[in-house]
Amino acid sequence: MAQLLDGRIYSEEALAEVTEKVKALKKSGVTPGLAVILAGDDPASQTYVRNKGKACEKTGIYSRTIILPADVSQAELEKTIRELNDDPKIDGILVQLPLPRGLDEKRALACILPEKDADGFHVLNAGRLMLGQSGTLPCTPKGVLRMLRLAGVELDGKKAVVVGRSNIVGKPVAMMLLNENATVTICHSHTEDLKEVTKQADVLVVAVGKPGLITGDMVKPGAAVVDVGINRINGVLSGDVDFDSVEPVAGWISPVPGGVGLMTVAMLMDNVVTLATARAGKA
Ligand code: NAD
Repeated sequence: MAQLLDGRIYSEEALAEVTEKVKALKKSGVTPGLAVILAGDDPASQTYVRNKGKACEKTGIYSRTIILPADVSQAELEKTIRELNDDPKIDGILVQLPLPRGLDEKRALACILPEKDADGFHVLNAGRLMLGQSGTLPCTPKGVLRMLRLAGVELDGKKAVVVGRSNIVGKPVAMMLLNENATVTICHSHTEDLKEVTKQADVLVVAVGKPGLITGDMVKPGAAVVDVGINRINGVLSGDVDFDSVEPVAGWISPVPGGVGLMTVAMLMDNVVTLATARAGKA
């Protein structure tokens, strides 16, 4: 039976740490602030943004949500970002993705000052990760690595397989595993024999968006399996991993819900505090 990589416990711990750091910052006259820009009315995005606001409230971080209409122009979106870049109350800026059709995500993200890039999606922070330099790390990959570390999963010299190669999860998580000295393989939609590869993995991270993609016969006995996928079927959440068949084979497994999603929000709070600390140090 696998040990649960319990996002509820790990995220509570992370949020408690953040709360302490926020208290210390406030004592020195600094209140960390996060601004979230939500364009359009996608229900999943609205839920994510609400959860981020709640986590700010819980940890004492000042938060502001800016809601823009789905038909907002690129110029207006970028103007909003620039105003936040100049706003002394704001340490971290997050543009909730995906943006409505017609808006250029790349250009919008490039407008965020790298020093206020709460999500770590700015090209400069992505480059720093690639080069092994310190910078803001993307929240979901950071949460995955935090979970593995807290559970005591060994990475150095181990075979890690990442399924999915998106810029926000697959690629950065692979890079972070590489930085921990794992031997990393990345699989994607063109991978020929997925099972052949996943069966080799001591650590398997799955970020695809296909419910039940990974089944027990695709997993090496004792492996650590981290399920990043979030799929909604008739309002019910599930991951990319078929929990029932994988759990008896794996050594560790993260559930959905109650896994990586909670870590993502906690790591966002952690990023905001780190950005606020850095800005306060410079001021
Ligand atoms: P994406 O659509 O950008 O990327 C999906 C990746 O999966 C692609 O690289 C594609 O090549 C690969 N893929 C598709 N079909 C495949 C197959 N049959 N075999 C192997 N690889 C395949 O998605 P994303 O933004 O990386 O998100 C992936 C999943 O993670 C989604 O379910 C998303 O909702 C979820 N997600 C969760 C969190 C969280 O906090 N838990 C955060 C971000 C994304």
